[in-house]
Amino acid sequence: MDVIQVKNWLDLFTIKINEEKAYLSDLDSAIGDGDHGMNMARGTTEMMVALREKDPQTVVDVFKLAGMTLVSKVGGASGPLYGSAFIGMAKAAMSSDELVTILKAGLEGIQKRGKAEVGEKTMVDMWAGAIEALENQQLAERIVEISEGSKDKIATKGRASYLGERSIGHLDPGTISSRYLFETMLEAGVTS
Ligand code: ADP
Ligand code: MG
Repeated sequence: MDVIQVKNWLDLFTIKINEEKAYLSDLDSAIGDGDHGMNMARGTTEMMVALREKDPQTVVDVFKLAGMTLVSKVGGASGPLYGSAFIGMAKAAMSSDELVTILKAGLEGIQKRGKAEVGEKTMVDMWAGAIEALENQQLAERIVEISEGSKDKIATKGRASYLGERSIGHLDPGTISSRYLFETMLEAGVTS
């Protein structure tokens, strides 16, 4: 991956999130407080402004600035979680240019911050599933199926966990915004 591709990736992600803002908030209305689209749209737009203003020149600096902006500008749980992911990715990118290694560090950042394990109906499931599929060269074909898997799960972390079994049958909003992150990654040609 090079810095141009990564910037393009984050541009495409910001556009996609803003296009799907209402849908993401609808998903969050069913099992949370209805602000996920708003949180992510605000965060990614601020991220884009910061990237334009500071114009970082390395992959490490792009991820670092993206992460710091998301942590500081988003009120909901998702800002610090995505922010921790990008900060983890920045650290990994200092010593590796391997996509899988970098994404694993991102997932680790999310789990350090949010303490969720795989299977708790959070974005962690999407990240873990996407990384595994990427390792098997099956990300593009399996990505939707992986995200749909969140429907059958019971939420045991985050706001949706207050609903217990009533969270079954609903997609997890953070899983869907994370799916957009990985879809736009592929679209930008970041594949290794
Ligand atoms: P809030 O829950 O504060 O309203 P958002 O609505 O923006 O924040 O984000 C909700 C999403 O965050 C969930 O759909 C879930 O994927 C993710 N999430 C919540 N708590 C955790 C956690 N502890 N670990 C990982 N992801 C989490
Ligand atoms: Mg919410």
